[in-house]
Amino acid sequence: MKKDIYSNYENFYLSDASIHPKAFNIANVAQAELRKVFGDIDERAEYHQARILKVFNKHRISQRHFTGTSGYGYGDEGRDALDLVYRDLFGGEDALVRPQWVSGTHVISDGLFALLRPEDILLSITGAPYDTLHDVVGINEAGTGSLRDWKIGYKQIELLPDGNIDINTVKDVLTDPKIKTVLIQRSMGYSTRKTLSVGNISAAVDEIKASRNDVFVIVDNCYGEFTEDEEPSMTQADLIVGSLIKNPGGGLAPTGAYAVGTVEAIALLESRLTSPGIGREVGSFPSGYGYFYQGLFMAPHTVAEALKGAVLAAKVFDELGYKVRPHWKESRSDIIQSIEFKSSKQLISFCQAIQTASPIDSFVVPYPWDMPGYDHQVIMAAGTFIQGASIELSADAPIKEPYVAYLQGGLTYAHVKLAIMKVLSVMLKEGFVQL
Ligand SMILES: *Cc1c(COP(=O)(O)O)cnc(C)c1O
Repeated sequence: MKKDIYSNYENFYLSDASIHPKAFNIANVAQAELRKVFGDIDERAEYHQARILKVFNKHRISQRHFTGTSGYGYGDEGRDALDLVYRDLFGGEDALVRPQWVSGTHVISDGLFALLRPEDILLSITGAPYDTLHDVVGINEAGTGSLRDWKIGYKQIELLPDGNIDINTVKDVLTDPKIKTVLIQRSMGYSTRKTLSVGNISAAVDEIKASRNDVFVIVDNCYGEFTEDEEPSMTQADLIVGSLIKNPGGGLAPTGAYAVGTVEAIALLESRLTSPGIGREVGSFPSGYGYFYQGLFMAPHTVAEALKGAVLAAKVFDELGYKVRPHWKESRSDIIQSIEFKSSKQLISFCQAIQTASPIDSFVVPYPWDMPGYDHQVIMAAGTFIQGASIELSADAPIKEPYVAYLQGGLTYAHVKLAIMKVLSVMLKEGFVQL
């Protein structure tokens, strides 16, 4: 044991029966070896912090923007200024940020319905979309109100074996004039594929626009915000969407979603958001927008904390012989860390241990269940302040082979590190790992 990597508080941790000395050791040795990676993550957070400050200053954000309105919400300054802040920060022509969008799925669904018309075809070029979108598209059946129910077709192109977009096939398939919108999902979501970088997305969008300048490109940006220097809205994409209880809400936004894009795409989306003719002019949020602004201001820091936690988990589990994705040395384009376990028992035990390490509902034991919108049973550990917020430390796993847990979030790195030490201690006790 090298003395310099241990804190003065070692005795405090080791007096806690839930932390095994070997788990404490592994986490601290790994942390010491990650200084360079952490430094790079912090540097990017500083860059985004500076960008955000500039945008807040430009729009003269002030206390009055935090006040809510009621009823129709005409002239709601907090709402309107927040749109401008997102527009400038994400480098789009226009933006909508609304608490009335209940989730990421909701804004993606609205985006698709906004851009597509009956007889059109939607083309997903990153394989199957996120699980909850299957019912939106009507991939398996024409569920009530799905795109398929509206006679909107669907095609998908799988990613190449190396995880990249199969751009040649995309260009071939795009010769079908009925294809009107292309969907790109940045994050791996609940799958074993890799997350696409903004550079990869940008190159694909350029090719798509070069062969068909009449198709819209929509990017599901969930989990990606502030993990790279740029966002997909800075490419030729028409619309990018994401959830506020993930990265850009900074752990403070209580609900909602955002969309950034071209004037044309946002105008179409506005009609979907409320109704044609009314669009963005209405919508009140009586409790006000303070947490949306403050959360966005905090977001680069919060995302950096979550990223450092993810990298630590990658390093620790890699060294224990588990397959992790991405590897701790790899560059990242979202906050998700997947860890492949050897059995469903280990997977469930991992998620339950994360729950016990949560600030909220630590006494609750999560079990696999048939969650709406998902094809398999899912177990979710989410002891969060904001219900279901996955910018807070959380772990999800569909109960199917390969037994992969998806770990994400963490309002503070210290919390993620503590949780990893507790999880390792449980795994040691249950005999899943030998150290
Ligand atoms: C979280 C997420 C969504 C939307 O999920 P909600 O739970 O509805 O917010 C969509 N796509 C990806 C890739 C996601 O990570």
